[in-house]
Amino acid sequence: MRFIRFSKQGSAEPKTGWIYEDRVGEIEGDLFSEYRRLEADTPIENVKLLAPLVPGKIVAVGWNYIDHAREFDREIPEVPTIFLKPPSAVIGMGDGIVLPEISKKIEHECELAIVIGKKARMILPEDAYSYVFGYMAANDVTARDLQKSDDTWTRGKGFDTFCPLGPWIETDFEPADAMLTCRVNSELRQMASTRDMIFSIPSILAFISSVMTLNPGDVVLTGTPAGTSPLEAGDVVEVQIDGIGRLVNPVVKQAATI
Ligand code: MG
Repeated sequence: MRFIRFSKQGSAEPKTGWIYEDRVGEIEGDLFSEYRRLEADTPIENVKLLAPLVPGKIVAVGWNYIDHAREFDREIPEVPTIFLKPPSAVIGMGDGIVLPEISKKIEHECELAIVIGKKARMILPEDAYSYVFGYMAANDVTARDLQKSDDTWTRGKGFDTFCPLGPWIETDFEPADAMLTCRVNSELRQMASTRDMIFSIPSILAFISSVMTLNPGDVVLTGTPAGTSPLEAGDVVEVQIDGIGRLVNPVVKQAATI
């Protein structure tokens, strides 16, 4: 099943929905407890897709593909490096990634995103998949120069628009060996299989839940493979995960006034 958030033409009100073939239906209730699907009666081209959810928190894993760690001269980590991205960074399909003027090197990072479906605390790896609601494509946009110059990654990872998610939450997805690609202006920049992760999804979820409670609607980003590269205004970034879909975002300059 594919779940979305969307707004109808002429309305700014976000709605939760589901996709059936090329049509969208509304959902009544709470996606993570009780809900009811209404008839899918609206052609998908007549709605604007929004970020599929507003996460409570976003926990991300750094250096989770060997080739990416190597390209940055990092040791292969023995435990996952985790950090937080703020929910205010989230944007959806088609929204602009805004380049903050203070950074001179802003890069894409295509990643598989996990949506948590059940409260998870101190879980075992063998139980981890039962806490997963579904999956999305994500772009862990990073101001690389600020990530390097600051003692924490909060600023480099945390600007508004630095977390495109979408285009929907796919619940029927096999994450063990899925191809993940990133294209900029149709040119291939990153390509890997989720099979190449250093820490598996079950071990990541067990590790994070040993630190903090994961709640329904939280999002976990699982790391990016090699090939991250700088973005410029006018670029179009596409993160594609086979079995989920393609998340497309234009890159825009920071406006003169905010
Ligand atoms: Mg990342």
